[in-house]
Amino acid sequence: MTTPPAVSTHDFELVSGLEIHVQLNTASKIFSSDSATFGAQPNAHISAVSLALPGALPKLNREVVEKAVKMGLALNCTINQLNYFDRKNYFYADLPKGYQITQDAEPICRNGYLDLVLADGTERRIGINRIHLEEDAGKSLHDQDENFSYVDLNRAGVPLIEIVTEPDIRSAEEASLLLTEMRKLVRHLGVSDGNMEEGSLRCDANISIREKGATAFGTRCEVKNLNSIRNVRRAMDFEFNRQKELVSAGGSIVQSTLTFDADQGTTAPMRSKEEANDYRYFPDPDLAPVSISEEWLNAIKAAMPALPAEITHKLVSDFGISNSEAGIFAEDAALLDYLHKALETVKNPKSVINWLTGPIRALLNDRGTDISGFKVDAARFAEVINLVDDKKLTQQIAIQQLLPALELQPAKDAATLAAEMSLLITDNGDQLSEFADQVLEKFKPQVQAYKNGKKGVLGLFVGEVMKMAGGKADAQKLNALLQEKLK
Ligand code: ADP
Ligand code: MG
Repeated sequence: MTTPPAVSTHDFELVSGLEIHVQLNTASKIFSSDSATFGAQPNAHISAVSLALPGALPKLNREVVEKAVKMGLALNCTINQLNYFDRKNYFYADLPKGYQITQDAEPICRNGYLDLVLADGTERRIGINRIHLEEDAGKSLHDQDENFSYVDLNRAGVPLIEIVTEPDIRSAEEASLLLTEMRKLVRHLGVSDGNMEEGSLRCDANISIREKGATAFGTRCEVKNLNSIRNVRRAMDFEFNRQKELVSAGGSIVQSTLTFDADQGTTAPMRSKEEANDYRYFPDPDLAPVSISEEWLNAIKAAMPALPAEITHKLVSDFGISNSEAGIFAEDAALLDYLHKALETVKNPKSVINWLTGPIRALLNDRGTDISGFKVDAARFAEVINLVDDKKLTQQIAIQQLLPALELQPAKDAATLAAEMSLLITDNGDQLSEFADQVLEKFKPQVQAYKNGKKGVLGLFVGEVMKMAGGKADAQKLNALLQEKLK
């Protein structure tokens, strides 16, 4: 007789869908002209609408619709052209109306997707179920006073979009990559600052497990209000293990809403499904339906910037560079702009790309800045690259001496300054030949070694002659010259 194993040998996989709240960066709130900016004194950005005084009426901010549509288009969604708003009813101190205005049955965007490329190169497509418009609530402050809670209504009515993914996420890595891409996308489109610390991007993670190979989904738990990508990862790792252990021990998952304790790295129940609120959604009678006309939709489409994926694709096909090199430009609008300007006058386009992804990137990393901290303008930079490509200047001298000098004297053209600083490669073949003879004389044993087949020592001779020439020699020519002499 065999005894069953004490520990289950089931192999589980994680299943997750995210609900991502993005605070749009409009100047004013979604239904009033109150400022929507972050960081003001409590209750500085409030009016009759934010306070829900009797008779105050909401009026839709047009820009909110445009920003949501932009996000929907970027996420390959179908745009719903007839929108109305619903009331989601519940009582809370930071919600003076007693309901939140949102979209329930008819979200503004539906059925999209976002493609991810994982670290190992695997491509994953994550479905987007919906994007809907809603207003944020205010904020209760429980830590200001021992006996009282305070309410700050600055955030009440700030515009949000909620992006709901399909349960297509299979690991914490995919979830954090998805959020990273979302943050890049909202910034790229200019719809939000994507700042997770300030709450402009926050997410609820729905998490379940199932046996590998199973097609049915397990019962999910929803971890609320994760405010950093790291915490999303931690909550997922914790929940995955918790659910695995529970199920392996013969238990079952109860659908519930959880909070994440960032200090402990653990989740704890807030409420189970039985205690879930019934929000009694119904269309808000104070707001007329909004129709997004064909013209309006086309105008929004026309104003869309090229998307990172499109930019990457174009750079790869135009210049034959790798996806990861192209990605550097696709994710940095200022750098891409700089590249385009330099391309106008540079002779060899591939050179600019190599310079910007290589030495200039390293230099900017050292300085801890982006391209705005590089004080050589793009046209001037192209001149430097042309000098190097024309073999009038070595790359090393350009980087170490000419570019820093140009940063201090931006008005000087590159060739003039290089000449003034005597940085240009000396075409003086006689002098180089003389230096070469001196070097070969000085390193007699190495010359013998070379002649006996130790060709590697050539580098030593090149280096020595280069030193004597103050770095101002074309290395290739020098190689040829020395080889000739060593024959
Ligand atoms: P609700 O409206 O009750 O929150 P939804 O069906 O809209 O439910 O789903 C909310 C989120 O939960 C979505 O992101 C979805 O992908 C995710 N989700 C649904 N079922 C599961 C599951 N079994 N495991 C993990 N996530 C799930
Ligand atoms: Mg939910």
